[in-house]
This record gives sequence, C-alpha cells and structure tokens, in this order.
Amino acid sequence: MIDLYSDTKTLPTLAMRRAMHDAVLGDEQADEDPTTLALCERMAEILGMERGVLLPSGTMCNLVAILTHARPGDELICDHNAHVANTEAGGAAALGGVGTRTIVSPHGIFSAAQLANAIREPSRTAPRSSLVCVEQSTNFSGGAVWTLPEMQSVRDSARSRGLRCHVDGARLFNATTATGITASAYCAGWDSAWVDLSKGLGCPAGAVLCGDAPFIEAAWQWKYRLGGAMRQSGVLAAAGLYALDHHVNRLEDDHANAQTIWEHLKDCTAIEFDPGKPVTNILRFSFTDSIVRTADYVAACMAEGVRVRAIDERYVRAMTHIDVTKAAAVQAAQVLRSVAERLAAVRSSRH
Ligand SMILES: *Cc1c(COP(=O)(O)O)cnc(C)c1O
Repeated sequence: MIDLYSDTKTLPTLAMRRAMHDAVLGDEQADEDPTTLALCERMAEILGMERGVLLPSGTMCNLVAILTHARPGDELICDHNAHVANTEAGGAAALGGVGTRTIVSPHGIFSAAQLANAIREPSRTAPRSSLVCVEQSTNFSGGAVWTLPEMQSVRDSARSRGLRCHVDGARLFNATTATGITASAYCAGWDSAWVDLSKGLGCPAGAVLCGDAPFIEAAWQWKYRLGGAMRQSGVLAAAGLYALDHHVNRLEDDHANAQTIWEHLKDCTAIEFDPGKPVTNILRFSFTDSIVRTADYVAACMAEGVRVRAIDERYVRAMTHIDVTKAAAVQAAQVLRSVAERLAAVRSSRH
C-alpha cells in the first residue's frame, strides 16, 4: 500500500534507530538527559528563541502554550480549520477553561484586519481575547504557507491589542523548505513556537516547544502537571537530533513528489485542487460539482492500494513523506486519477 494518509505514518529509518540506540541518557525531569538538553537548545537556536522544552506530542505543545499564555475565561483566536480548534479534543476548554474564536479564511491564512475584527473590546461582559495562533504551514487548509509579511502584520495587530502570539509550527520546516525563509525569521517577535518531530521529520514521537526563559519555565510546570515530564527522553531526542541533521533538507523531495502527483491530476476534470497547486507536502482536493462522495473515493483508492484521507464530505487530503518514493508518487497519482474518473463517470451516468 502507498500511504498518503498523513506524514505521521513514517517509520524511523535504521540510521535513526541507531542514533536512538546510541543516545547518551539521563533523567529529563532533573535536566540530566544530555541528549534532550542538546535537542532543546538546538531547536531554540533554529527558531531564534531563548529556550525549548521537549514534549511527547504537538498537541501537548499547543495545550501547554495555551495553558501558559491564557487564563480561564480567556479566548484564543485561530483559523476555523486549525488543528488546535478541531482535532485536539477540546483541550484548551477542558483543561484551561479557554474558549476558541475562529476566523474563516480561504487557506488558513487570515488577515490582520480579520484578526482585528475577532479581537474583543475589553469589557465586563466579553471573554478576554488573549492569544492568537497561526499554523505555519497549514494542515487541513491544504498545506498553504503564510508569507512573512502576512505573519508579521497579524503578529503586530495582535500585539497592539495586548494578545500573545503563538506559532503552531507542526510543519514549520515545510514552510522554510518551500520559501527559503528561515524558521527564526518566521518566529521573530512571536511568544512561542514549536516543531513536530513526528511529521515530516520522521521521528516516532516528540515535539519541541520554544519561547523565552520565563515562558519555558512556566511551560515546564504544565508539562509536569499534564504528565508530560519524562525520564530517559534522550531516546526520542536522539531521533530528533538525527532528523535535524538528515531529514530537513530532504523535505524538498516530499514537496517535489506532491508536485508530481499534482502534475498527473491537474487536468483531470473530476478533481479541483484547493489551493490550486501544492506548495508543501499536502494536496487537498474536492470533486467537481461534489459528484463523488469523499468516503466512496477513499474506499475505492484503498481497494487499489493507495490510502488518502477524507477530511470531510468535501475535501480529500493526500500527503507525501519520507516513506513515499518518487516512483510510488507516480503510481499513486495514476490510481488517484483513474478512481476519480471512474467514480465521476458512474455518478454522472446515473444523473
Ligand atoms: C499534527 C498537528 C498537530 C498535533 O501534533 P501531534 O504530534 O499529532 O499531537 C498540531 N497542529 C498541526 C498543524 C498539526 O498538523
């Protein structure tokens, strides 16, 4: 099977497993795991931030950041398709008492004016707007990338109204790979940012949340409270360090493979890409006149050995990653196209 369901489906390479095997270890909670300390320091440096903390998942990075930045009764603002709003089990509300106000934007990239509209005037009756969260690059909105000015103007608009600013950088390196702009440029002036090790970087688990020293100190207390403090976490950190050395530059292969799939499908009249062309490793598409049910499409592709994901009744998502070769991308594209054409033909003949 060619698995384009998600870039989380990757398996650690043999060389990564060797790095994990050879890691020098200690007790993370006591700051005694040298490998974890090295990873956190390195990620903080890459993001241009003071310090970092390793957490088991990206979801916990968002949650810890929200709990650290906001108080119960506060509101965070993000796009309507944001991971934090839809697929983190309501953690902000459940554990932080923090509400979510969403902005509808085409590809998860909202304007400073839209943000300004969503920020509430301070009042006795309104929740306090306390945090803005952007995804760089976007996930369910189709892998779009914020330009630097777009991020800066949203950040400045948030700042001017007293909000804190958080970058969900699950796939930040896909953005840097697509544009050549550094991670530290994207994160400059933001209060917190994190990168997932278990997406395109191909590690089995882990994510590093970064910010200034007081933020990370406060984040550490939430990490501990949530049960996210670990012991010999250097086993995971070693995979992360290995990935920073060997798996960042190769993200361009994933992007090229996404382009290859798009090239094979772009003139298929049954399919509409949204965004019109992939810029990272994510392809999102719907069916012309919604003629094909996404669940039927996913099942039919699966029967032909290609796994993709129905995001909802409208969109299908396909993602390239380290375990998808160029040849597999070409093969998958043929299946994605022929299944779309077949199902669309069946449906239109019934109409
Ligand atoms: C995957 C993802 C997360 C959550 O990360 P996990 O490691 O799966 O918990 C958060 N935000 C975005 C944009 C993601 O793609």
